[in-house]
Amino acid sequence: MAKKKIKNPWDQCKNCLPAKCCTYFSLEVDEPEDRKDYEAMLWQIAHRGVSFYIYRKAWYMMVDSICEFLTPENKCGIYETRPYICKEHSIETCEYTEGDYGFTEHFKSYDELMAWIKENTNFRFKDRHQVAKENNTKAQPLRAAIG
Ligand code: SF4
Ligand code: SF4
Repeated sequence: MAKKKIKNPWDQCKNCLPAKCCTYFSLEVDEPEDRKDYEAMLWQIAHRGVSFYIYRKAWYMMVDSICEFLTPENKCGIYETRPYICKEHSIETCEYTEGDYGFTEHFKSYDELMAWIKENTNFRFKDRHQVAKENNTKAQPLRAAIG
């Protein structure tokens, strides 16, 4: 894809509130292979702000969490000494300008990952709706417990 020409990067960044590139991080994780791996992944994605995606056959965990150095003015508070990962971040292809990252899958919730596991593997887990039905109770809502 051709890179977009950006005349004044700050014009773009000041319209990006809060700075998208400073509100999450992601890291590559081992591809899940067995039941324990999937169970651990389900537990991880049950935590607020955690999602998983698959990109070029590799699995990644994404964590939504604002960098402590992002100032109320939406600027980097340690610009001169920011880490290389921030220095190498390209504004031409950043989160603001690009819509589709070409992820094969992006699991944004426990239920989405559970549905994928059911469809794509032989591992079976009781989902929270099933457990609630068996216990004759209501399924616990996700990500609604704390403030
Ligand atoms: S995501 Fe792009 S536009 Fe937004 S702050 Fe980062 S570099 Fe600037
Ligand atoms: S160090 Fe600065 S540029 Fe890097 S994520 Fe934090 S606020 Fe953003």
